[in-house]
Amino acid sequence: MSGYTESMRNLIEEFAKMPGIGPKTAERLAFYILKTNRETAGALARAIVRIKEATRFCAVCNNLSEQDRCDICRDQKRDTSVICVVENPEDIASIEKTGSFQGIYHVLLGTLSPLNGVGPDDLKIKDLIARLRNGAAKEVIIATNPDTEGEATALYLIRLIKPLGIKVTRIASGIPMGTNLEYIDQASLIKSIEGRHQV
Ligand SMILES: [Zn+2]
Repeated sequence: MSGYTESMRNLIEEFAKMPGIGPKTAERLAFYILKTNRETAGALARAIVRIKEATRFCAVCNNLSEQDRCDICRDQKRDTSVICVVENPEDIASIEKTGSFQGIYHVLLGTLSPLNGVGPDDLKIKDLIARLRNGAAKEVIIATNPDTEGEATALYLIRLIKPLGIKVTRIASGIPMGTNLEYIDQASLIKSIEGRHQV
């Protein structure tokens, strides 16, 4: 990256760390910032700082939130008898975009992955079981991704939840194996929630 000033190089390097951003795109973004006016650049910088300062995990479901409880947990209109279990907060965003789910969520913040040293205690599984013991849930929809780790996590959860006498369903596998919930088109995601089956 010769020919660039140090600050330009610095910005390109930061952009290039982002997912899906290759060196060419990183350069293009850095030039965009350079050409944009002070207010626009300042607004972007403030938005980046703010998201880190203001965002935390919901005390109930581990969704991203700027308050103790997230928007969904505070929404009186949501059906608290159905809890949809997902891997990450991004999955909630994907499902919410479909507008077809009225229940509430529980985010595990990962999947079981023995090879990477991630065991049950590293995920929000104990919290889920405590929620189910004390709450009004009648059905748990397991919406972990249809890949090896997501399936292993689903099986683990099914074994834990069934003895509690709560109906457990798994999203339909119309979703291609190995596809992340995040990247599925909305129609397929709606179908996989509607077509969930009891396990
Ligand atoms: Zn919440």
